[in-house]
Amino acid sequence: MTHIAVLGSTNMDLVAYVAKAPQRGETVTGREFRTIPGGKGANQAIAAARAGATVSMIGAVGNDAYGTQLRSTLEHSGVDTDHLRTVEGPSGTAHIVVDDEGGNAIVVIPAANGTVDHLAPGDDGLIASADALLLQLEIPLAAAIAGAEAARAHRVRTILTPAPAQPLPIELLAATDLLIPNEHEASTLTGRTDPHAAAIALLDEVPEVVVTLGSAGSLYVSRYAEPLTVPAPQVTAVDSTGAGDTFAGALAVALGEGRPMREALKWAAAAAAISVQRAGASVSMPYRPEIDKQCT
Ligand code: ADP
Repeated sequence: MTHIAVLGSTNMDLVAYVAKAPQRGETVTGREFRTIPGGKGANQAIAAARAGATVSMIGAVGNDAYGTQLRSTLEHSGVDTDHLRTVEGPSGTAHIVVDDEGGNAIVVIPAANGTVDHLAPGDDGLIASADALLLQLEIPLAAAIAGAEAARAHRVRTILTPAPAQPLPIELLAATDLLIPNEHEASTLTGRTDPHAAAIALLDEVPEVVVTLGSAGSLYVSRYAEPLTVPAPQVTAVDSTGAGDTFAGALAVALGEGRPMREALKWAAAAAAISVQRAGASVSMPYRPEIDKQCT
């Protein structure tokens, strides 16, 4: 079975649904409150596990009730949490206000995720045993760099989702094999609004790039292979939260299985298309048989 290691964040999303978000100094009564397990690291881990890989999550939760809940959510999807540390203090949280127009305002408090600034004993060996390492940027950059460098040293493919968008240190790019920005991140990284031009510019930094284009699918460029464009299945989207994480998780699994890039991209697009048709992020992620069915 393909083994994917994920080094990244685990958050509890605390979501208040309101007609109109409060202004400074104002108090409003909301309609509903939900706690939703998230964090890009945990989301990608769940996506990859459901897509059929053995997945190990490296990161940290706090020693609070959210930490317990986040760990059990991961385990419920089959993610190994032996390398998910429990640290003193609160778990990471995202405080989200969603208004009736679908607009949102978000405060992220990294808390336990902020302690993930290095590899712990054993993490290097875990990365060495994986077929791919999935990285995102919701943990300190020092850890992302250490993880990517460990993967490079062990010839493990590093797949980086550069979110939240920010300038990337040269050491991180130098150890990244495949970069998966969405259109917005690709443009932030390069200053180019055309996704194809942005992808080509990114080849100066990394050998392979996939830019995800929402309902328009994805495009792939490489230093070594012909470019590809892969459409997304036409579906009725109800909630695209976590689409990019579903795509990255499924793509890592397909590539880990040695499938060719075009087939892997098509399979990842099938997985993401299923997830956007259901509400929620990790809860909407499909299991392997559903992906295979959508892909035929
Ligand atoms: P992110 O979620 O990071 O913003 P995108 O919006 O680019 O990233 O979505 C990632 C992938 O999810 C896309 O490449 C596509 O395969 C799939 N996807 C997103 N939105 C839709 C949609 N409306 N219909 C079908 N597939 C979608």
